[in-house]
Amino acid sequence: MARHRADVVVVGAGAFGSSIAYHLAVAGAGDVALIDQHAPGSQTSPRAAGMTRQVFADPMGQAHGRLQTRSIAKFAAFADETGEPLMVHRSGSVAMATTDEGARWLADEIAAGPGQGIEIYAIDSADLRGIAPYARAEGVRAMWFTPSDVYLEPERLAAGYARAAIRHGAALLEHTAVIGFLQAGGRIAGVHTADGPIEAPAVVLAAGGWLRALGRLAGLSLPAQPVRHQLLITDPLPGVAPEHAICRVREARVYVRPSAGGLMLGGYEDSPLVVPTGDVGPGFSIEALPLDPRVLHGLAARVARIFPDLAGARPRVVRGGVPTMTPDSWPIFGPVADIGGLFVAGGDNVGGFSISPAVGELLAEWIVTGRQPDLLAPFRADRFGPWPHDAELESVTLERWRLHYRPDPLPGTPATR
Ligand SMILES: Cc1cc2nc3c(=O)[nH]c(=O)nc-3n(C[C@H](O)[C@H](O)[C@H](O)COP(=O)(O)OP(=O)(O)OC[C@H]3O[C@@H](n4cnc5c(N)ncnc54)[C@H](O)[C@@H]3O)c2cc1C
Repeated sequence: MARHRADVVVVGAGAFGSSIAYHLAVAGAGDVALIDQHAPGSQTSPRAAGMTRQVFADPMGQAHGRLQTRSIAKFAAFADETGEPLMVHRSGSVAMATTDEGARWLADEIAAGPGQGIEIYAIDSADLRGIAPYARAEGVRAMWFTPSDVYLEPERLAAGYARAAIRHGAALLEHTAVIGFLQAGGRIAGVHTADGPIEAPAVVLAAGGWLRALGRLAGLSLPAQPVRHQLLITDPLPGVAPEHAICRVREARVYVRPSAGGLMLGGYEDSPLVVPTGDVGPGFSIEALPLDPRVLHGLAARVARIFPDLAGARPRVVRGGVPTMTPDSWPIFGPVADIGGLFVAGGDNVGGFSISPAVGELLAEWIVTGRQPDLLAPFRADRFGPWPHDAELESVTLERWRLHYRPDPLPGTPATR
């Protein structure tokens, strides 16, 4: 193996890691090595729904929304910035509530939008026919529309950032697993790979569903629980067009958007498949993840009156990946406590794809300048203490999963267990 030293090693070439490596290379961080046990952009990231949502009523949601807004600008500029193609659909997004409680969540969000600088307004069933003609307002009590939300097909993003990183001087080591860490004097000193050690004074763990397992090799108990998340895409359906808006039915925890002439549906079932951390070691590939279309049929049944065309449509694609849930539903970015030079980007809570451009840019700035960017401050990795017990992490994060799409459901951070 040719490379024995780097200035920064980034472990994981998904949306987070590839974006970080690209922005480090552009920022002049020196020798940047991007390492992945598989091909870049081949694991959870290319299986995402690729949707944004910017408006939230609670402070953490708004902080996440700011990362989405900044990322939407970077998605739009992606081809010019990186030289890589990316098709972005500025479809806007609709939120639907089917209960009085849900209608209150939406009213709070409409009130919060202007403070976030985002256009958002209530719509009725006549408006819906123009914005998302594939949907009906059957049983829907309230709706809002945010015109500036976007979606994109996810396959090109991480791979595009990885290629652009290489053009800016980064080295890509693909099909190379990181199997341990070098540490000295309370600092990170590099990584061990299957092909030998690489010394580096800064290392970023951007290992997606493998994050907790990889962190353990450095002596960390990172609270990032891998959970399977799936979606389906139907055959093409008459009248569905790419410019039609994303729809999210909040109480049902289901999203639907156009995709390749058909409809994409995904959501949050009550009892998702939890992937044991021990199963997500080096060598595990998302291709081996068992999929269960029955889960998706169950989610479709929850919203059958709203999306009648889904009922008879044939799923052309069923895909899934392994996002990670954290105890407070928000991601973890920045330096870890106790090991100098070691950074984390993960705990995506099924929302990492849409913020990865901004996170890459800001985390690279943090690593290069040593100064924490304001936009990442709420998501500092060291807001959590150690979470050594798998069972406790699983139960807390599953509670969060079941409250997905509610306004910050359990305010306050359960910091450590
Ligand atoms: C069905 C579905 C729909 C989704 N929809 C959305 C959405 O609409 N919007 C949104 O924002 N997010 C969405 N997400 C979440 C999104 O996919 C994730 O937030 C994002 O892909 C996380 O990127 P990542 O880089 O952390 O993970 P990954 O893409 O999995 O990348 C991690 C990489 O680390 C590598 N790695 C791990 N361990 C090692 C090791 N020891 N050595 C070397 N390499 C290693 C892996 O091989 C992998 O390539 C969705 C996810 C799914 C599954």
